[in-house]
Amino acid sequence: MISILLRGRTLSFLRWPETIDDHSAWRYEDDGGLLIRDGRIVAAGAYAEVEKQAGQGVKKIDHRPHLLLPGFIDAHVHFPQMQVIASHGAELLDWLNTYTFPEETKFRNAQHGRRIARLFLDEMVRHGTTTVAAYCSVHKASAEAFFAESHHRNMLNIAGKVMMDRNAPEGVLDTPQSGYDDTKALIEEWHGKGRQLYAITPRFAITSSPEQLEMAGTLCREHPDLHMQTHLSENHAEIAFTRELYPQLRDYTDVYEHYGLLGKKSLLGHCIHLSEREADAISDAGSIAVFCPTSNLFLGSGLFDYQRHRRRDKALRIAAATDVGGGTNYSMLRTMDEGYKVIALNGEKLNPFQSFWQLTRGNAEALSVLEKVGTLDQDTDADIVVLDARATPAMRLRMETIETLAEELFLLQTLGDDRAVREVYVAGRAAKSDMAT
Ligand SMILES: [Zn+2]
Repeated sequence: MISILLRGRTLSFLRWPETIDDHSAWRYEDDGGLLIRDGRIVAAGAYAEVEKQAGQGVKKIDHRPHLLLPGFIDAHVHFPQMQVIASHGAELLDWLNTYTFPEETKFRNAQHGRRIARLFLDEMVRHGTTTVAAYCSVHKASAEAFFAESHHRNMLNIAGKVMMDRNAPEGVLDTPQSGYDDTKALIEEWHGKGRQLYAITPRFAITSSPEQLEMAGTLCREHPDLHMQTHLSENHAEIAFTRELYPQLRDYTDVYEHYGLLGKKSLLGHCIHLSEREADAISDAGSIAVFCPTSNLFLGSGLFDYQRHRRRDKALRIAAATDVGGGTNYSMLRTMDEGYKVIALNGEKLNPFQSFWQLTRGNAEALSVLEKVGTLDQDTDADIVVLDARATPAMRLRMETIETLAEELFLLQTLGDDRAVREVYVAGRAAKSDMAT
């Protein structure tokens, strides 16, 4: 039995923080301890108390003065797009056709998929992200590569092969039947293996025929415990094209409703230009709107109205995500920095506790994985990020004038990136320093 005892300033959320002074929304220990046994947190609290339970032979690691938080969660990312990120000058549909689809054809080659899966999860760990909901390419081998690498690292990840059978080049198309069969085989092989979770992944309405969405709906009915992930209402040209493809349905959201794809584990990337009817339908279904600020700004898609969605009578469940390669950074700190600005452009502010809630517990709730990750609670998996608010000269200088935890978190969000991530534990294993050696 491997036991380690971490010491540092621990921060974990109990619920959404209404204000910056809503202290009962989080648990902060200035001298905190986390006792980890076989990859799980078995005790958490004040260091002096936790140490008493540690027993003989426990390995002690002192991270003071750094912050220990639950590992970050990225609710929407495309692992095959590592060589698409930073592609210039296009909006969504041109960006897909010019850069993304040609790049994803390379994942026919299983070896390419394995290489990128390894580099992708390295990058996640370097940035403090311990769980992602990932899109693979259309090729079954890309999902196999992703899950094999994720399983090898013992990471809790959600992923699926995209289903797409039209409006894209031959090299990235499946058929309704092959998309169904490959998905079925991948679920069989990977869902629930170790910490791996499968997501049924029709890319979006434009690249799936009605027959394929029918098949995706069948998969959701056959596997009601699985996630479903897709894109919704990102860009005006996309919405218009979808309306042309599905003229008999009420609106874009109705496409997914009609085929039985909206449920409590449905992750809907973007949701920028929703009508009130669509937002109501998503809320009624308990589905999740995924906010991808760097992507939405980069592709010029629009401003996600976070606070309005959260506050409306029929509130939306919200997750936050990078959406790499439309997104421009792997870091969830950078993501929430841009998220702050998007929300500011809508005339509101997100306070730093709300941001860090979103990155951790909020995203865990949205992904229905809260019983395993997203907090530092006892009896959860030990996925932990260690943050250093003095990681760079500019941060160090700014920290001289910072007095509160809220200010420190806001500095981490505003100037922080992978350099602020000192260590990352994946199921109790020091994954970032392991990687460096
Ligand atoms: Zn996406």
